[in-house]
Amino acid sequence: MSRDSLLEEFMEEVEARNPGEPEFLQALRHVARDTITIEKAHAEYARARVLARLAKPDRMVEFRVTWQDDDHRIRVNRGWRVQHSNAIGPYKGGLRFHPSVTPSILKFLAFEQTFKNALTGLPLGGGKGGSDFDPRGHSDAEIMRFCQAFMMQLTPFIGPDRDVPAGDINVGTREIGWLFAAYKAQANEFTGVLTGKGRSFGGSAVRVEATGWGLVYFTQAMLAVQGEDIEGKRIAISGKGNVATHAAEKAIACGARVITLSDTSGTLIAPDGLTFEDVAWVRACKEAGSDISEPPRTCNAKYHDGNNPWEQEVDIALPCATQNEIDGPMAQALVDGGTRYLAEGANMPLADEAVATIAKANITRAPGKASNAGGVAVSGLEMSQNSRRRFATPEEVDADLKDIMRTIHARIADEGRDDDRIDYSRGANVASFRRVADAIASMGAI
Ligand code: GLU
Repeated sequence: MSRDSLLEEFMEEVEARNPGEPEFLQALRHVARDTITIEKAHAEYARARVLARLAKPDRMVEFRVTWQDDDHRIRVNRGWRVQHSNAIGPYKGGLRFHPSVTPSILKFLAFEQTFKNALTGLPLGGGKGGSDFDPRGHSDAEIMRFCQAFMMQLTPFIGPDRDVPAGDINVGTREIGWLFAAYKAQANEFTGVLTGKGRSFGGSAVRVEATGWGLVYFTQAMLAVQGEDIEGKRIAISGKGNVATHAAEKAIACGARVITLSDTSGTLIAPDGLTFEDVAWVRACKEAGSDISEPPRTCNAKYHDGNNPWEQEVDIALPCATQNEIDGPMAQALVDGGTRYLAEGANMPLADEAVATIAKANITRAPGKASNAGGVAVSGLEMSQNSRRRFATPEEVDADLKDIMRTIHARIADEGRDDDRIDYSRGANVASFRRVADAIASMGAI
C-alpha cells in the first residue's frame, strides 16, 4: 500500500470520529503523513498502534468556571485541560485564555506539544488547556478572580509529577502568580506545579524571554547551514505578545532589522527597522491592554490599518501571532517579496495552502514544534530547578537554551535532509515521533 493510501485510510477513520475539529485534523495529518510509513515498517511501532493512540488524547477534562465580576454578577465560562500524552514525562503545556479557544484548538495544541516537548530532549509529556474567557475589557481584579476560579476546577487534575501547566496567549507571569497561589492554597503544598512563575517564588531566569530568544537561536542555526548570518537581514514579525517582542529584541541585538510587529487590526511598519524603545513601547501597550495603533512621535514605525506584515520585502518571516494566521495569498506575498526563510514562533501559523506555497517556492521553513520549543525547554529547566531547590543564573539558563535549540536544529536537520535541501518539518515530525513511539512501544497495551 502506498503512503498516500495508508494516510487516507488512517485519516478517514479519525475524521469520522472527530467531526468539527479542523485544526486538530490539520495537525494530525501533517504528522501522520511523515510518519505513517515509519510506523508500518517498524514492527514494534505497528504492533503498538502508535499513531492510532496518539490520535486521541489520554484524557480531556472540561469544567465550568464560575466567577464574579466587579458588579458582583456571576459570570460563566468554559475551561479545559487536554492531557495528550505522558509517555515520556508528566503532561506539560500552556494555558490559553482567548475567545477562540475550543476543544479542537486545544486538542491540536496538546497534540503538537507532545512532539515539541519530545524534541527538547527533556522528560516532558504533552498537554494544553485554557478557557474561552477573554481578558480584554476586564479589570485586573476580575482577571484575578477568573484565574482563582479556573484553578479551583483545575487543581485536582494537575501536580508537579502529573501535569505542569504554564502560560500561553493572555496568560503571563502575572496570571501564573494568581493561578499558583490558588493551587498552593487548595493543595496545601509548595511545588513546581506551574512554570513561568515569578523569580521570587520559584521561576526560572530567562523563562519569559525563552520562546522568542529560542526562535532567533533556531533561525541562526538554520542560516548557518547556508553560510549566512542574521546580521543585516530584514525580518517581518507578526504579533505583539511575549514571543513576538522578545524575538524582535533578540534579532535587533544580533544586528537584524525588524521591519514589523502587528495586532489583529493592522501592522506597525518601520522600513529602517524598529528600535529597542519601539519594542518596549509595544510591550507596554500589550501589558496595559491598550492597542498599538497610535505610536508615539519618537517611534520609527507607522501603524497601517488592515495591513499584514507579509507584504513587506524581507529575508526572514517570523509568524508569532496564532494558528493559521498566514493564508495562501499572504504566503504568495512573502514569496513575491523575496523571503527565503520562515521560522514559526506561533503554533501552526500556516494554513495548508500557505504550507504548499512556501514549499513550492523553496523557502526554508522551520515548524513551530521545533523553532518555538525554547519556551517549554526553559519550563523543563524550571521544573528541574524546582526539584533540586537550587536556581541557575540567567547566563547558565541562556547557555542551556542556546544549546537545546542548536541540538534540536541539528537533530531535525539530520532526519530531514534530502540531497541538497532540508525538510525541517519532516525532520521534526520524524525525530519526535521516534522518541514518543519508542516509549509507547516499550510499555505494552496500556
Ligand atoms: N505555551 C508554550 C508553548 O506553546 C509553553 C508551554 C510550557 O512552557 O509548558 O510551547
